[in-house]
Amino acid sequence: MTSAPSAETKMQFLYALRSKGVTDAAVLEAMESVDRGPFVRGIFAERAYDDTPLPISCGQTISQPSVVGLMTQALQAGPRDTVLEVGTGSGYQAAILSKIARRVYTIDRHARLVREARQVFEALHLANITSLVGDGSFGLPDQAPFDRIIVTAAAEDPPGPLLAQLKPGGIMVVPVGQSDAVQTLIRVRKSDTGLDYDELRPVRFVPLLEGLGKDT
Ligand code: SAM
Repeated sequence: MTSAPSAETKMQFLYALRSKGVTDAAVLEAMESVDRGPFVRGIFAERAYDDTPLPISCGQTISQPSVVGLMTQALQAGPRDTVLEVGTGSGYQAAILSKIARRVYTIDRHARLVREARQVFEALHLANITSLVGDGSFGLPDQAPFDRIIVTAAAEDPPGPLLAQLKPGGIMVVPVGQSDAVQTLIRVRKSDTGLDYDELRPVRFVPLLEGLGKDT
């Protein structure tokens, strides 16, 4: 594990988040309390507090911290909520959510990523995260419905099974668009009468792929 960042590094990290529009106090507090260092391995660890995406195992990426902050803010999760994250990756987004929500389920198609993320959750004593291997496009029917769903890979459209597993009053945040183009982060609110869609901002994510990944 990497050592904790200096007070100055942390201050710059939080400053970068605020300057990119992360203003929600609970989100900033969560991002202050969870070091990004342990989620970044090898030669990239020294860049853990830069506001940039970085490579992780299996050819995937840990998202840019300000994007993690903006997506978490858009999700409007609270201490009573159960959240499903599709796309565990490094586990960093799930760790941030674990400080805000009651329980977090996170799923990735790469078993190796789930194994590595679990090690970090255990080391950081984040006991309210359940991590699973699977194709998250189908959600987690056994644990559904969810108060909040966050997808951290780009889908062409919000996956139907995930919309079905959102509670009435629930919110889903998902990047949509073609995988080789800039995508749009959207927020879907489910009401008793239907679904409302908001376009939030342009983003760039790896694609949401079908089936299980080959571990590399
Ligand atoms: N949230 C992550 C973090 O905090 O590090 C970053 C996620 S990374 C940008 C996207 C992740 O989505 C990858 O780990 C990839 O394996 C995963 N993914 C892609 N398609 C998936 C699917 N159908 N089901 C589950 N995970 C998927």
